[in-house]
Amino acid sequence: MSLHGDYETDNIFARILRGEMPCVKVYEDDNILSFMDMFPQSEGHTLVIPKAPSRNLLETNAKDIGRLFGSVQRIAKAVEIALKPDGIVITQFNGAPAGQTVFHTHVHIIPRYTGLGLGAHGGAGTMADIDALTVLAGKITAAL
Ligand code: 5GP
Repeated sequence: MSLHGDYETDNIFARILRGEMPCVKVYEDDNILSFMDMFPQSEGHTLVIPKAPSRNLLETNAKDIGRLFGSVQRIAKAVEIALKPDGIVITQFNGAPAGQTVFHTHVHIIPRYTGLGLGAHGGAGTMADIDALTVLAGKITAAL
């Protein structure tokens, strides 16, 4: 799949945005939605997506990028307060060869804890327990 092309409206995140699939929500406003990653690479792995459709950052307009990363910073700060990680990785993949598996622009907020490894990227890990994700999301939301 090339870096440029048609936006596929059936991708998982588009379906979450339309309410056709559930998510464990952290934050939502007119422009962005944030929710817990279902196959977390670490405890508290959170996703932030723009509501406007685009496949990747190269195809996202600058205004949406500004809003997206403003929200990423705000949510990352809440993750720090809520979960007290020792570090936070913020990643963003563009195109399948780069590791992108869901083709709606998104940013990963991945807390890191000293001594703990990182799970597999891209849905290759273990599916999280929804109740546990809900508790984590509640803590992050409370810290926003
Ligand atoms: P990418 O590989 O495109 O950078 O990131 C896609 C992310 O979406 C992965 O971290 C993967 O675990 C996550 N993911 C895949 N399917 C679902 C899902 O149905 N719900 C949620 N919340 N996350 C998903």
